[in-house]
Amino acid sequence: MLIDRTRIRKLQDGQSEGEYVLYWMQASQRVEYNLALEFALDLANNHEQPLIVCFCIFPGFPEANLRSYYFMLQGLQEASNQLQNRKIRFVCSIGSPDKIVPAIAEKASFVVFDRGYTSTVQEWRSRVVRKLRAPVFVVEDNVVVPVSVASHKEEYSATTIRKKLMNQLSRYVKEIPQIETEVNALDISVKVEEVKVDDFKPLLKKLALDHSVSPTPVFHGGSKRANALLEEFIKNKLEQYHQWRNDPSKECQSSLSPYIHFGQVSPVFIALEVMKYPGDGTDAFIEELIVRRELAINFVHYNRNYDSIEALPKWAIFTLNEHISDKRPYLYPLKDLESAVTHDRYWNAAQTELLITGKMHNYMRMYWGKKIIEWTESPQSAFDTMIYLNNKYELDGRDPNSYAGVLWCFGKHDRPWKERPIFGKVRYMNSSGLERKFDIDSYVEHVQSTKH
Ligand SMILES: Cc1cc2nc3c(=O)[nH]c(=O)nc-3n(C[C@H](O)[C@H](O)[C@H](O)COP(=O)(O)OP(=O)(O)OC[C@H]3O[C@@H](n4cnc5c(N)ncnc54)[C@H](O)[C@@H]3O)c2cc1C
Repeated sequence: MLIDRTRIRKLQDGQSEGEYVLYWMQASQRVEYNLALEFALDLANNHEQPLIVCFCIFPGFPEANLRSYYFMLQGLQEASNQLQNRKIRFVCSIGSPDKIVPAIAEKASFVVFDRGYTSTVQEWRSRVVRKLRAPVFVVEDNVVVPVSVASHKEEYSATTIRKKLMNQLSRYVKEIPQIETEVNALDISVKVEEVKVDDFKPLLKKLALDHSVSPTPVFHGGSKRANALLEEFIKNKLEQYHQWRNDPSKECQSSLSPYIHFGQVSPVFIALEVMKYPGDGTDAFIEELIVRRELAINFVHYNRNYDSIEALPKWAIFTLNEHISDKRPYLYPLKDLESAVTHDRYWNAAQTELLITGKMHNYMRMYWGKKIIEWTESPQSAFDTMIYLNNKYELDGRDPNSYAGVLWCFGKHDRPWKERPIFGKVRYMNSSGLERKFDIDSYVEHVQSTKH
């Protein structure tokens, strides 16, 4: 097996006398460069058994809504066809994983999980594993460097984790060939109620979920689209990425974050493809894809308070509290922020971009967050507002990056700056910075044009 052993952990021993191997797909919703899938298939081949992949659609997933389910199901539709072509049985069922996975695993000789990092998916995994009798493995393949290999503790900033990650790249950025399926699994029956994902729109109508946020017209879910975006990015944007990635008027980002969030594309595969073209653009991109993203994962993995302002460094908590009574120039209720009707047309454009497309430009996310701190009554209400809007509308929301990104606005992974009202020593941003650095009007015009 070509998968590095540090990506694989045995969660429990057990009886391996079943009829098939089961892979519970959850965080890695893809068929290409899915190391959990390849590991499970290898196990199945070695035991001359078929492989079943199951996916649980759980309508009550915290903060998810029609927009996120729609994108996810577009991806699963594609994955289902690809698994069928590889003679692997795909079982999709509606309900809680701790009911569905154990029911299918009754006849499994081994069970394989992939790996997510937020508390919701960790708790699911612990609940499921307690109900299984077979040996269970977890394969960590949504990071380039496994989180506990990268570091044994919460890192302070990008500076402290960078070298630790970069030193491991030659070990973990590797091609993984697809394994041939030796036992056809397509005819196996299971004892759970299945749903077909080929035509998922009627299914979504029936599900008890928040239907108030519509699917995005801009992003189509699935690995094919992710691969096409990556190809286009390498061809047209990578070379200039270091110069223009921050400029909201240039569209120089890869737009891959929704696909990475749902596991529709592997970060290892992205790194492999991009690193074929060395240069300043590639270095800057690797800094974001690996250093910044895996710093966020390190944070969520090691800090139990990752979804709270308690997770801020002491200096940031202290300075924000010192300025908690400072007069705010504007105080907006949530509904005004949510519907993008503030006095600031740049901010409104960023929020409108989020409402319509499901993805706000990275630089505008920073500006957006900083202004929410300025326009709400306390750091706590600013934090609650940002997490609410981010996780409701961003396709890539509810991710380790969501918490690290929002908390960055309050000083996480940053350093103290010059003291000023409301922010204290937390970094400040203002609209004249946008005007000075970018053709910000063309960003506003571009967002306006997506409204029609
Ligand atoms: C307030 C705020 C909230 C944020 N919320 C999220 C979120 O919910 N989900 C999310 O994925 N990212 C979030 N980010 C980080 C960043 O804005 C997005 O990852 C980036 O805009 C995604 O666009 P892209 O894929 O086109 O990025 P690219 O510039 O093409 O970067 C490629 C990949 O690198 C990673 N990356 C890029 N920038 C960052 C960063 N600053 N921190 C960590 N990883 C990064 C992402 O995985 C991204 O897909 C947030 C940042 C801030 C300031």
